[in-house]
Amino acid sequence: MFEVTARGRELQARLQAFMDENVYAAEKVIAAELRDAESRWTVPALIEELKSKARAQGLWNLFLPDTRYGAGLCHLDYAHLAELMGRSLIAPELFNCSAPDSGNIEALALHASDEQRDRWLQPLLNGEIRSAVAMAEPVVASSDPTNLLTTLSQRDEGYILHGRKWWVSGACDPRCRLILVMALSHPEAPVHQRYSMVLVPTDTHGVNIARSLDVFGYDGAPSGYAEVEFDQVWIPEDSILGKPGKAFEVAQGRLGPGRVHQCMNLIGLAQRAYEAMLKRASDRVVFGRPITQHGMAQEALARSRCELEQARLLTHAAAATLDRRGIRLAREHLAMIKVAVPEMACTVIDRAIQIHGALGLSQDSFLAAAYAQARAARIADGPDQVHMSSLARLLS
Ligand SMILES: Cc1cc2nc3c(=O)[nH]c(=O)nc-3n(C[C@H](O)[C@H](O)[C@H](O)COP(=O)(O)OP(=O)(O)OC[C@H]3O[C@@H](n4cnc5c(N)ncnc54)[C@H](O)[C@@H]3O)c2cc1C
Repeated sequence: MFEVTARGRELQARLQAFMDENVYAAEKVIAAELRDAESRWTVPALIEELKSKARAQGLWNLFLPDTRYGAGLCHLDYAHLAELMGRSLIAPELFNCSAPDSGNIEALALHASDEQRDRWLQPLLNGEIRSAVAMAEPVVASSDPTNLLTTLSQRDEGYILHGRKWWVSGACDPRCRLILVMALSHPEAPVHQRYSMVLVPTDTHGVNIARSLDVFGYDGAPSGYAEVEFDQVWIPEDSILGKPGKAFEVAQGRLGPGRVHQCMNLIGLAQRAYEAMLKRASDRVVFGRPITQHGMAQEALARSRCELEQARLLTHAAAATLDRRGIRLAREHLAMIKVAVPEMACTVIDRAIQIHGALGLSQDSFLAAAYAQARAARIADGPDQVHMSSLARLLS
């Protein structure tokens, strides 16, 4: 129903081969290297090796529809690739297709000045540096960004940025050189024109990583989730991305195609969990029969297969709508997938854990980390309820 182009199919085959030959085996090596490293915020050598290999094979910046910057694929073609990458938590970065860099690259490509492009966009496209985005704050309900308190005040030839952000994904990574910070710059303006998005180099005086945060005990190393203090940080005048007071525009642009990418990644992860569940249920004998021959397990498998396919079709429809009708007319689909897909992924991965018994909870299986990722996706980039209420508004 949703046709992939010949080029999309050819890239799928090559990406799948790369995953099979390099990525699954690397998961354990990278985890072991991180476990033995002196600091969790050290980049395992194998990550950079595999990045170079993927780039040499042309499997690089595949998410970018603009041929000046990336592969020039339509959203639907890329959706299939994002599913393949999403099967492994380490994979998207190896192809320079991982959040938050992908969203930041899109924002810079759309809104940056020539100088900002040279300084930030090119090194990000090359995978030489990483970046983060800081919107949420510990002291206010951040699902409503009009609550955010961090200030950006005009001073001679520049601004002073002051405040505290948290859950800044990727900011613990030693390669993270840039944070896009959403800050209150025009408090007297109408509510959606009060904030600016500002480009802050991580080595600026007054930018301090206060601590790293964990999701169910997972620290997300080597990238992490940081609480970041911006203590009277001076930044030059040309650091605003897009127009002053237009942070909402920049943030919205970041999130449109990104929702399809994130949802297809999660579908890939849930598909892998489903395949593991099927294998375990076939191989393991309980009470005299393989698990697959017990009715309750059959229901878990059958439901998972249905729910995965429903979510996949819905997300393909969202990608096709983005391609054919543009972001404004895709808003309904984008809200639907952001609600439906993380919930589906949680349910399917949870069933897979159950069928694996204790193994599914342990470090010997990818399932526990996969569940943490899927569960976090029901809150990160806005909790389910925010997207349900936007969807309800679009429908009424
Ligand atoms: C793993 C992870 C990574 C993240 N990465 C980033 C990042 O890189 N950059 C960044 O800025 N932020 C990041 N975040 C933060 C994330 O965007 C916020 O946590 C999210 O927007 C919700 O804000 P909050 O936690 O303050 O929840 P609150 O705003 O306090 O909301 C709490 C709860 O209230 C309920 N609620 C909210 N709105 C409604 C409504 N309209 N109707 C009914 N109920 C509602 C929901 O149940 C919601 O979960 C990340 C979070 C996680 C978990």
